[in-house]
Amino acid sequence: MFETWVWKCIHMKCENTENGKEGQYCPECGKILHKVDSKEAKKINIKKAKYKSDPNWLRKEGLKRQKSVRVANIIAPLTGYDKESRSNVVVIPEKEGLKFNRKGIFMRGSRGEQFVRYADIISIGYGKKGLVLGNVTIMTPGGKIKIKNVPPKEGNRFVSGIQQKIMGVKSKANEYNTTQKQISPMDEINKAKKLLDNGIITEEEFNKIKNKYINY
Ligand SMILES: [Zn+2]
Repeated sequence: MFETWVWKCIHMKCENTENGKEGQYCPECGKILHKVDSKEAKKINIKKAKYKSDPNWLRKEGLKRQKSVRVANIIAPLTGYDKESRSNVVVIPEKEGLKFNRKGIFMRGSRGEQFVRYADIISIGYGKKGLVLGNVTIMTPGGKIKIKNVPPKEGNRFVSGIQQKIMGVKSKANEYNTTQKQISPMDEINKAKKLLDNGIITEEEFNKIKNKYINY
């Protein structure tokens, strides 16, 4: 099967759906025509018709796409057996951290819910144990949590999702620290100038400060 190429105006706001020729400009909006295959040309005509009947349609399409991306970013909770606390656990990724819901008859340690902030997680990893299943190990300031018998796909997806969350909060914290440390050279020179004017420091001392911040 061979493709047929047509030259079209691809601008949604322009109502022209006619095909043109190579190198031509749209007779309605004046923009250059684009080379598209006949399948794409049909799609463009449909989109233009939708846009004509509802000018908000394009914006709504964009929002829908954004929403679907956001949904894909949600990490599914992890269910398994925590060897360390001898309990069945559900690990739920929340906005600020991981929530652990524990249930068990021979449980060690605290029962019920536990919350660990992403910023406090020391490490998280997935390791295959045996042929098909593996363990998710989470190191927290409160100790190690090991969730057994997790399939690789689920385990790796969970671990990489949480690692991204951890990196996100840590880079945010770094950003905050650097902005906190940032000093304005001009502010420092102005401060020194005031000290000089008030006779607190000498001309020589002022120049030292000035040179330091000018080369800053
Ligand atoms: Zn046009």
